[in-house]
Amino acid sequence: MTEKFKPDPIMNTPDSRKFVKNEFPPLGKEVYVKAGDDMSDKGYEEEKYLGNYLRAKMKRDGKRFWAGDNISEYVNDHNKEQLIDEATEAFELVLDRLLIDRETDPNSHGTARRLAKMYFNEIMEGRYEPGPDATAFPNDSQDRYEGMLVVRSELRSMCSHHHQPVSGVAYIGIIAAQKLIGLSKYTRIAQWCARRGTLQEELANDIAREIMRVTDATDVGVYVQAVHGCCENRGIMAHSSLTQTTVLKGAFKDDQSTKKEFFDNIKLQQDFAPR
Ligand SMILES: [Zn+2]
Repeated sequence: MTEKFKPDPIMNTPDSRKFVKNEFPPLGKEVYVKAGDDMSDKGYEEEKYLGNYLRAKMKRDGKRFWAGDNISEYVNDHNKEQLIDEATEAFELVLDRLLIDRETDPNSHGTARRLAKMYFNEIMEGRYEPGPDATAFPNDSQDRYEGMLVVRSELRSMCSHHHQPVSGVAYIGIIAAQKLIGLSKYTRIAQWCARRGTLQEELANDIAREIMRVTDATDVGVYVQAVHGCCENRGIMAHSSLTQTTVLKGAFKDDQSTKKEFFDNIKLQQDFAPR
């Protein structure tokens, strides 16, 4: 009972269908695609690339895997090395297509693997790693902290349009609810959200949502200011451009004095240590 294989626009480009046994053996692994188009759906499990199998699995699960999405439940330390091997092979092809001699140019030798490792372990790490452990402490005693807390977090991110660096800071404001988290956790959460392919608008939203999730707070403000490589290194080549985004929730949005206090605190922080 062979089910007719449903062509998948991502997985079955004309190029990938050419991959029959021994024609293009990747990294010594078994070739998976049966010749011809009559491939059963089970063929997904025989994918020669783990990356293809995981993408098919996420699609079947209805799991979104955009550049800014965390997919850590599908990637673990065990299979990450294989994904890095597969990305290395793909980056080699990109360098070849760019007509860069990676065999005799000593500086391009090994670049494909450096890129693959950098994407998985550094600049997109927040996609593949589960969120930071943010143990919450109760804030429900007689003398509980009721004021506003504002934390400035250094951010390094990457735009999902051009894969150019985004560098800046997030100011995270919160009026503590019943739970508090350690000060460094705000920054760890912000960096975990940033280490992906993002848009700055999305990034501010992601940080606000994750802070609300781990603290149960409903009054949260996030202000992000960043410079974008895609505006500085290319395109408009604007060297002093700055992008600001603000997400306000609860009292930060609805109460003018809370909102003012948040932005006054940001100004105080910037006076204290310009950024
Ligand atoms: Zn961009």
